[in-house]
Amino acid sequence: MAEPLLTEADLALRPGHGVRSPWLREALAAEGDPPPLPGPASDMDVDIAIVGGGYTGMWTAEQLSRRAPALRVVVVERDICGGGPSGRNGGFVNAWWDEIDTLVELYGAERAVAAARAAAESVRAIGAWCGEHRVDAHYRQAGMLVVSTTPPHDDRPLGAVAAAEAAGVPEELVALSAEDVQARCRSPRFRGGALMRDGATVQPALLVRGLRRVLLERGVTIHEGTRLMRLRSPRGPVVRLTVEGGGATREIRARHAVLAMNAWSAGWRPFHRSILAWGSYMVRTEPIPERIAELGWTGGESIYTARFNVEYLHVTRDGRIAIGSGGGVPGYGGRIGPSFTDDLGSARRAAGAFRHLFPMLADVRLTDAWGGPIDVSGNHLPRFGSLAGGRVHYAMGFSGNGVAPSHLAGRVLAALALESDEPVTRLPMVGPPARSLPPEPFRFLGARLMRAAIVRREAIEMGGRRAPWPLRQLTAMPRRLGYHLGPAP
Ligand SMILES: Cc1cc2nc3c(=O)[nH]c(=O)nc-3n(C[C@H](O)[C@H](O)[C@H](O)COP(=O)(O)OP(=O)(O)OC[C@H]3O[C@@H](n4cnc5c(N)ncnc54)[C@H](O)[C@@H]3O)c2cc1C
Repeated sequence: MAEPLLTEADLALRPGHGVRSPWLREALAAEGDPPPLPGPASDMDVDIAIVGGGYTGMWTAEQLSRRAPALRVVVVERDICGGGPSGRNGGFVNAWWDEIDTLVELYGAERAVAAARAAAESVRAIGAWCGEHRVDAHYRQAGMLVVSTTPPHDDRPLGAVAAAEAAGVPEELVALSAEDVQARCRSPRFRGGALMRDGATVQPALLVRGLRRVLLERGVTIHEGTRLMRLRSPRGPVVRLTVEGGGATREIRARHAVLAMNAWSAGWRPFHRSILAWGSYMVRTEPIPERIAELGWTGGESIYTARFNVEYLHVTRDGRIAIGSGGGVPGYGGRIGPSFTDDLGSARRAAGAFRHLFPMLADVRLTDAWGGPIDVSGNHLPRFGSLAGGRVHYAMGFSGNGVAPSHLAGRVLAALALESDEPVTRLPMVGPPARSLPPEPFRFLGARLMRAAIVRREAIEMGGRRAPWPLRQLTAMPRRLGYHLGPAP
């Protein structure tokens, strides 16, 4: 496949550390660009301390403040709420029906369907919550397409379709012919695929900032610019969190603590072997509603391609195409450094994806590029649970698909912190942290090698050819080792 041509303007685009995503800039501007909330003025005693002001932490606080309004709940966030991936993601709000084959393999059909149904409930609950709380996060439930863009990938969407059928839920993921796909969006690259009805889109930062507003109205305490430095006595009756914020070090004493730090969890000892931080980058076009109508892409479906280095795209309310590419680079250990926000190569890969999928939009300008870390787990699904002692709860491993699952995480974490046994706390992804990934430096080196091999393999496959046998075997190594990562041979 010839490299798609990037325009001079594409080449001038720079993702930037310290530059907020355009979604977050828009959301903050709508709020009048408020200053960050101050750090704690003194040590404090609370019922539940939540670390991380992204969706997971905030949905947990939302559940707690609704279910038990008298509880003293505090959220600490090192940046501002939504400063991480929750304010900079692709806006796909997905259930797990497209992962049903993996779910069935891991947990059996019955538990797999229960988990996927719980994620689907969260897709709908997010929309209902936005309506109830007047949070206009541009929520639109119009389904999600997974499409093949080259003959060697044609059977990939069909594996999950067959698994949905075998699990007794054929209506959840329906095969689409190439004509069906073209009727929904006319990219010359799109071939056949599948449609999942439990898919919606949002302007992600409006959602996370809407959550922040509602929590503040309910009296939840939020400290921004406040970072967890140390966590002590996780097994005692009182968990002690040392935080730094506003130039001071304070102690928060809590009956329960919730760690909702996403990719940053990789830097904390219990989770060293649970996740690998990986970069994901996006670009978006100028508003082009008429051109999008010419593509026939008027139904509002989100779309992702059946590649391992997945491309994901949707149309925004103001008529832009926002498109991301999962082909970023892995991080080392728990360090979340500039490679997650400043990597020009990864941003250009996202721009290249747009140019490749829509050659007829060659004159359309890309206006923004940005990136962030995702937390890849060994089975590509999140894990929720409690550490030994039962007072520190966590969620992580969303693997780049966390907008709806973080709502589910909030339901699980709130129930765990309330010590309440419920159907969601019995889902198969609830349990102790998985320690499945190799230690550093092997994890980083292996991930770099695999990434290079997969990029090479997909470049060949995008030209319509099968990759050579040795390369297919190499890229299938993670699967041979028991991970649900990377392509099958
Ligand atoms: C470019 C990109 C595109 C994506 N697209 C999609 C998509 O379309 N659909 C989808 O489902 N998912 C997508 N994702 C993934 C999705 O954004 C995440 O899974 C989701 O936001 C996770 O929410 P969270 O609250 O767990 O994490 P985060 O939003 O990362 O929140 C964690 C917070 O913890 C804070 N924190 C970390 N360490 C500390 C500490 N020591 N003290 C205090 N605070 C701390 C961080 O600053 C951060 O704000 C994408 C991710 C990226 C980067």
